[in-house]
Amino acid sequence: MSREQQAVARARKAFETGRSRSLEYRILQLKNLQRLFLEKQKEISDASKKDLNKSEVGTQLFETLGLEGEISLAIQKLKEWAAPRPVEKNLLTLSDTVYIQPEPLGVVLIIGAWNYPWAVTVQPLIGAIAAGNAAVVKPSEVCVHTAKVMEDLLPLYIDKELYPVVTGGVPETQELLRQRFDHIFYTGNSMVGKVIMEAAAKHLTPVTLELGGKSPCYIDKNCDISTACRRITWGKYTNCGQTCIAPDYILCEPSIQDRVIEEVKKSIKDFYTDNPKTCPDYGRIINQRHFKRIMALLEDSTVAAGGDNDESNCFIGPIVLRDVKPEAKVMQDEIFGPLLPILPVSGLDEAIKFINRGEKPLALYVFSADEKVINRMRDETSSGGFLANDCLVHFSVNSLPFGGVGNSGMGCYHGKYSFDQLSHLRSCLIKKLKMEGLNDMRYPPHTPKKLGW
Ligand code: NAD
Repeated sequence: MSREQQAVARARKAFETGRSRSLEYRILQLKNLQRLFLEKQKEISDASKKDLNKSEVGTQLFETLGLEGEISLAIQKLKEWAAPRPVEKNLLTLSDTVYIQPEPLGVVLIIGAWNYPWAVTVQPLIGAIAAGNAAVVKPSEVCVHTAKVMEDLLPLYIDKELYPVVTGGVPETQELLRQRFDHIFYTGNSMVGKVIMEAAAKHLTPVTLELGGKSPCYIDKNCDISTACRRITWGKYTNCGQTCIAPDYILCEPSIQDRVIEEVKKSIKDFYTDNPKTCPDYGRIINQRHFKRIMALLEDSTVAAGGDNDESNCFIGPIVLRDVKPEAKVMQDEIFGPLLPILPVSGLDEAIKFINRGEKPLALYVFSADEKVINRMRDETSSGGFLANDCLVHFSVNSLPFGGVGNSGMGCYHGKYSFDQLSHLRSCLIKKLKMEGLNDMRYPPHTPKKLGW
């Protein structure tokens, strides 16, 4: 038996003991996970620093604080989420008890990505625990140090039979994918998303795919451009552009392009000083393969600001590109790095057409003081999430479902959505063995007399 098979078998066996079904046990596990984040902040921050040069505050703001909030919410709401949900009845079932009973799915496989490794790996795990499942956790091998910390720490805090951690790269993940799961929760790029779905199809296993893509950002000329650019600069260059919901590119009228460039440059300086390389709040590209990939995107575009880089250090400073053409290399795939292309468009109509020609994005941003512009953008496009006049913050609202649509993913999570996503919502109807006369009409023979026709 391979290591991966053993982990799945252990999780299945632990699930079959039934211990994860008890709400008390689930709450205990969630509390243990909560304790991990209280006690091991330093190990977590140190690993994030080594992997992505994330500052301690950055790791807290973008990863652990959100997780702590999710855990507290799940602990507080679990009884309510797991309770039977009464539904409306029809005439035939008026005297019955009709409700939805959420039940655990079984063994869930969680495959995480490297850019916010705790958020995208542990957040689904919180949902899996809350919903009463076992879960095999596969952190991304790309964030080498964090994967090791996860592998070391999780078994010290939560039931290591129910929630085993399996580390490794593509071969190990593929070996896991050959096993039978009751749900697969994958975060990563859309190409691998297809590999996951194909493997899942062999066992008819349902999937949640949290993918990426190019998230557009339209700046209307009728807006406070300075504030808009400040928020966009934050959304783009946080974690060095390696954020699934980072604004990928800007669409705006040519008349405001210069102003946008100046304001973005100003915000870059405010946030990261004149020398981002020495700024503790500015991250690094995850590895040299990605460094080379990102630098190659610059080939056929005009740099309006930035350009400083250092391969030995995986450093690429914030870069703004102007007058970018739709055919440019940087516009073909998700950038996932600190390049901000600006594409001039004639106005809202052209922006909407441009967005609709591409795949449905994970996030769509519009900056405008005009409600009509915001509403038109919302009503005439489709995306996983839609934000007006800000970036990224919807990720932190756990009453909103987080997920993509079309090429940016399927299924959603956060808060109660995680619980529902990883539960089977079982339809229950409980009838009494009385009042059989009421059922007479449904039994054959269906004579006109009996039906009253
Ligand atoms: P990655 O390289 O870490 O891959 C993700 C996981 O897939 C890893 O655990 C890896 O082992 C596994 N994997 C990779 N190739 C595989 C293969 N051929 N077969 C089986 N498993 C394989 O991460 P990535 O894909 O570079 O992550 C970045 C992407 O993830 C971006 O597109 C980003 O937008 C997206 N993302 C989305 C979200 C979201 O919530 N929607 C969050 C973070 C990242």
